[in-house]
Amino acid sequence: MQYEEFLHRCFRCGYCKLPSNYTDINCPSYLAFRFETFSPGGRMWLLRGWLENKIPSSARFSEIMFSCATCGNCKENCAFPEFKDYLLQIFTAGKEKLLDGGHVPAAVRDYLTKMQLHGNPYAMPSKKRFQWAEGSGIAPFSNHEYLLFVDDVGAYDPRGREIARSVAKLLQRAGVSFGVMMENLVSDGNDVKAMGETLLFEDLARQNITALNASGVKKIITVSPHTFNTLKNDYPALGGQYQVHHYSQIMAFAMGKLMYMADLPPLRVTFHDPCYLGRHNTDYESPRMILRSLPGVKVAEMDRNRKNALCCGGGGGNFFTDLLSGVDDSPARVRVRDAAIAGADVLAVACPQCAVMLEDALKTEGLGEKLRVMEMSEIIRERIL
Ligand code: SF4
Ligand code: SF4
Repeated sequence: MQYEEFLHRCFRCGYCKLPSNYTDINCPSYLAFRFETFSPGGRMWLLRGWLENKIPSSARFSEIMFSCATCGNCKENCAFPEFKDYLLQIFTAGKEKLLDGGHVPAAVRDYLTKMQLHGNPYAMPSKKRFQWAEGSGIAPFSNHEYLLFVDDVGAYDPRGREIARSVAKLLQRAGVSFGVMMENLVSDGNDVKAMGETLLFEDLARQNITALNASGVKKIITVSPHTFNTLKNDYPALGGQYQVHHYSQIMAFAMGKLMYMADLPPLRVTFHDPCYLGRHNTDYESPRMILRSLPGVKVAEMDRNRKNALCCGGGGGNFFTDLLSGVDDSPARVRVRDAAIAGADVLAVACPQCAVMLEDALKTEGLGEKLRVMEMSEIIRERIL
């Protein structure tokens, strides 16, 4: 296995499952199940035992390995500086080896099969990928400055489609020159790569790169931080060289172009950092710049914020495979409790996956009376003329 030689460096101190102030459990899979094997260090020792034939392959072992949400808290907080940069690569390599041997949870196998056959995890026809934009007055990409690249959730999930339309309408109001491609794109592949299916990821990425390059795309805005991450960091090595922005990075500098309503009621908003914008790409401020510039909005931070934010549990494909749900302390449920403790009226998100995960958790926790989950573009659009 790639990176196998690094496994022995983990001395199981356990700092990786905590935030930097050690006050809580911040590894989503350990938080959910409280078995050491679900923690980063435990997962690594389990992997080592498996590679040394001390433990057999099993459904349970595969579930533990694939339950990692790739949130990056362990990379942020590992006590061993020379080692921390390899943690996520080690977990991905472990998953890759499990995939090679056919040892994968059924939900992971189904997800990857749909990706392979349909280019999306919903098993929907590719021509429906662009339905979210129909009737919304969004122009097909031609000589625009930016292409708006919408992720799988934004393209196919009903709630995701609302968010994609909301982001597009906001960009229109801010006068941003953008269009959308109406054919030939498939999943960005970010979560496929995180699951260790490297060849499938490269196949998806190359399909997109061929289509983007043929259309002369140079600058891209994404709705999802997952898309932002892979287009920015993984596509260049495969021939996809673009200037990539999450839409919040465009809007942070375009808020002055909007007209705001007068006498708006005060709103207390807390922001949930998406892992693939925050920890993976160190942008904690663009969404906060937006919130701070909104009239009547007061930002109330949760205790765990920025590099210490707790993941919603949807990363690494878990949004689709659901390996972290069904327990009282699923990360999404704990996260909405965090927001309620912060005294927020609104839990703001900047990712379609986070929106769906946290809205479901809000219902399960019975907090819907006192707290709303809103995507950033929706908060802005509620307050502009
Ligand atoms: S902090 Fe680093 S060395 Fe310590 S248990 Fe976690 S991965 Fe291992
Ligand atoms: S990436 Fe996140 S979920 Fe995965 S082991 Fe590290 S802290 Fe846990």
